[in-house]
Amino acid sequence: MENNTKTFKYVDYLWDDQKALSLGDNQVDLFLYRSNILGADLRITNYGGGNTSCRTIEKDPLTNEDVEVMWIKGSGGDIGTLNRSGIAGIYTNRLRDLKNVYGGLEDEDRMVGLFNHCIYDLDSKAPSIDTPLHGLLPFAHIDHLHPDALIAVAAAKDSEQVTKEIWGDTMGWVPWQRPGFDLGLQIEKCLEDNPGIRGIVLGSHGLFTWGDTSYECYMNSLEVIEMASEFIEKKIKEKGSVFGGQKMKAYQKKSV
Ligand SMILES: [Zn+2]
Repeated sequence: MENNTKTFKYVDYLWDDQKALSLGDNQVDLFLYRSNILGADLRITNYGGGNTSCRTIEKDPLTNEDVEVMWIKGSGGDIGTLNRSGIAGIYTNRLRDLKNVYGGLEDEDRMVGLFNHCIYDLDSKAPSIDTPLHGLLPFAHIDHLHPDALIAVAAAKDSEQVTKEIWGDTMGWVPWQRPGFDLGLQIEKCLEDNPGIRGIVLGSHGLFTWGDTSYECYMNSLEVIEMASEFIEKKIKEKGSVFGGQKMKAYQKKSV
């Protein structure tokens, strides 16, 4: 475990090595811990906003073979208080297979029902509409957050340009659209078109970031939010205002 001494000015670095060590190698516990400390800082995400996920290899009771399971915040709840009973465990290969039956934007409501057919863990909370946004990405640990600083970037009139200015080629950008299976496909395409990026800004919505471990994912999220915050403060100092004004109100639907 890294003993990180990095200090952040705009977000709280709350990772406690001792606490993390006490969770051992339990990736689901580490993911819940990461979620809780992210949700503890309301600048990182609003109450009930955003969701987090991780993946593990489990034994499939139907075949006795190893299978990849994605653990993700279920519908409703808040990542700050997320616990084992608030998550859903999904077969990621089955979720990806839904690409074969997806019938386009008219089909979004039916897809939410089909997420239930992808459930691995029978104690799962109902999967949220954001499930494919995580599931169609290939990463072991993913944060989807609505940080104040990112909402400022995401809601800017020239959001895509601002994203480039802050993170260069290391960050993807996807225009606003309602969360659902199609947005998952757009996010997947953004990564395919921009391999090696550290995250994706969703226009008028928020942020996706990821990592190979819970800790790396946490640090990536904090660093990205810190960079956006630094940029905004610099702009305010230079111009007295940020960006060219707001184009549209940031999307902040609760409980997804
Ligand atoms: Zn969101």
